[in-house]
Amino acid sequence: MSEAEGSTCPDCGVPPGKNHIGGCDVERCCLCGFQAISCNCVYIVNGISVDTMEDRYPEIFSGGPTQEMEEKYDAEVEKFGGRMPWTGEWPGLEACRLFGFWCFWGNPSTGEALDFRSKSTLGQWIPCTADHPGAREDLNRLAGSVEWSREKRQWVRE
Ligand SMILES: [Zn+2]
Ligand SMILES: [Zn+2]
Repeated sequence: MSEAEGSTCPDCGVPPGKNHIGGCDVERCCLCGFQAISCNCVYIVNGISVDTMEDRYPEIFSGGPTQEMEEKYDAEVEKFGGRMPWTGEWPGLEACRLFGFWCFWGNPSTGEALDFRSKSTLGQWIPCTADHPGAREDLNRLAGSVEWSREKRQWVRE
């Protein structure tokens, strides 16, 4: 892939095809499809319920996962093809285009498209079709309406 085909990660700066630098908030977890730095998979693969963690594992609740837990998570990630590299565009945008999930920033009472950079208080994200003025990939809809496939390493319809 040439430089022109994709830009560097907006958070950690790696080029397309490379793994993110640890702690990058763009990296997605290949086990759940959500943000790697904030998902609960490291607890789940270690058999710890996040709901009862505060009572049952107070040290982990306050201090975070142990190195042993991280290693178990990493091993699970390797089983499903390893960490998700930066592809040159924000994770999930391609899936939104595939599923036809679009939205635009507009005035919900008039349906008029607004410039989202104007931060107009009248505006909100409204679902639309791909050809609507100002249409952008609807990442919020993605998380609520499709399933993450560990095997395929992408969002799939149920
Ligand atoms: Zn990154
Ligand atoms: Zn995860």
